[in-house]
Formats: sequence, C-alpha cells, structure tokens
Amino acid sequence: MIEVTLLGTGSPIPDPDRAGPATLVRTGDQTFLVDCGRGVQQRLAAAGSGANRVTALLLTHLHSDHIADLGDVIITRWVTTFTPDAPPLPIIGPPGTGEVVEATLKAFGFDIGYRIAHHADLTGPPPVEVHEHTDGPVWDHHGVRIRVAPTDHRPVAPTIGFRIEHGGASVVLAGDTVPCESLDRLAAGAGALVHTAIRKDLIETLPQQRIRDICDYHSSVQEAAATAARAGVGILVLTHYVPAIAPGADEQWRALAATEFDRQIELGDDLHRVEVHPGVCVKPAG
Ligand SMILES: [Zn+2]
Ligand SMILES: [Zn+2]
Repeated sequence: MIEVTLLGTGSPIPDPDRAGPATLVRTGDQTFLVDCGRGVQQRLAAAGSGANRVTALLLTHLHSDHIADLGDVIITRWVTTFTPDAPPLPIIGPPGTGEVVEATLKAFGFDIGYRIAHHADLTGPPPVEVHEHTDGPVWDHHGVRIRVAPTDHRPVAPTIGFRIEHGGASVVLAGDTVPCESLDRLAAGAGALVHTAIRKDLIETLPQQRIRDICDYHSSVQEAAATAARAGVGILVLTHYVPAIAPGADEQWRALAATEFDRQIELGDDLHRVEVHPGVCVKPAG
C-alpha cells in the first residue's frame, strides 16, 4: 500500500488555511516528500512525520511555491537528526536543483556556522546529495522504485513528474504541467495520479493579466482529469488549487473532473489522505 497525504494544497497565493505545494508519500519503511512549499514542516508534524524522517526529497520543478521551505527542511533535518553519521538527504530534481541547494546552503551559511560552533556533535554542514534527472529510473531501494519523465510547464523547464512503485501499487506525481505525452506514458495504468489543477474558467475572468498568464502553463481541472482518463489510472487526486476551493465548493470541482474521468476523484483540504492499494491499476484503453 502507498499512502498519499496532501500536505499543502495551496499555490503561490498565500492562504490562511492552505500550505504551499507539498505531498507526502509513505510506503514500507520509506517516506518521500514531493516538493516543499510554504508551511511544509507544520503539515509534516500534523501528518505524524518530520524532516528527520524523510527518506528522500523529490522536486518536480524550481518554482518558488514548490521550494519555498527547502532551507527549513534541510536545516531542520540536520539539527533534529541525532544519530551519528546519518546518511545525506537525497534530493532528486530537475537540472538546476544542485545550484538551488548550494545557494540555499550558502544563504543559511551563518546559521550553519553558529550551530557547528555551538554543538560539539555537529561537525559539518547539513549532508545532502543532489541527483538531477529528466527521464528514467532514479531510485531502487528495498522494493521501492521511482522513475521520472519530463512534463510541460514551459517556460519553466526542465520540469519532471515522478512515478513511485512498491509492491504492485503505484502513484504518479505530475506537478505543474499542461497535458503532454510523456506524462501520459509515465502515468499509464498507475493506481493514482496526483495532479495540480487550476480553475481556468474562474481565472480567465480576473482583471489582472499577470494572474491570467498562469492559464497557459497549468492544467485545468478537466485537463488533469482527461490526462487521468487517457492514462487509465485508478484514482485522480487533485491538489494545488487556484483559486483555493471555496467553502462548500468541493462538489463543483469534483463535478468538473467527473466530466472527463469516471473513477475515484479525491480532493480536499491540507492533510487529505488517500490509500493506494495494489490492484487499483487498470490497463489504459489503447
Ligand atoms: Zn510551477
Ligand atoms: Zn505551482
């Protein structure tokens, strides 16, 4: 079984009730944090996890809303890991990730220096290990396999989606993307597809061009649902709602998705949890 928890269902627009984009995927003895938006650590704590329990950090892309709390995750994992010689935190992301991580460590350079000076058992900076990928297998440990494929969020590029498989169960995390063939292939037959979605019908009516601009590089609810249908996934999990789902409007969002996808649709508030079991997978239609 793979357990998916929507840690943050928000977007770049600050929201009192929704943290920034982040999803927790737990399976077997492994915990994957996918993106680390604003407020991720409070949500990790609420989900009964924490930065020191993350097996690997997976980044779909380097937009600020998806990496806003990267420094907090790295520093907190470092100072709350009490076992000597802890392994480095694997951070898997698209090209550019290494530069972002290096700059983040530099930004926290004073903090890192203070802590090394103060604690005898902290003898070096936070151990991290960056892996940059755009396509193919990226992880194979204790029965959990992960592969990535390019998505299309241009001009943000490169961007990647992740497919996590364990014991016959599988979950695909699309990140921000418009519909594209490589995502269809990555998601084919998966137990669940976690996809970001925006309400283009609402956003297109807004007066600010800068906000309307986001329509050309995101999937609408219907487009995300159509991707799920083409790929033949068992469960569509929507997240990263723009605008935030208004109180009582869950069913309206669900109905829009249901116009394209007739299986299980999940959406909701931060900490919404979905269990993905083996056998949920259905073969894609063609
Ligand atoms: Zn983005
Ligand atoms: Zn985003």
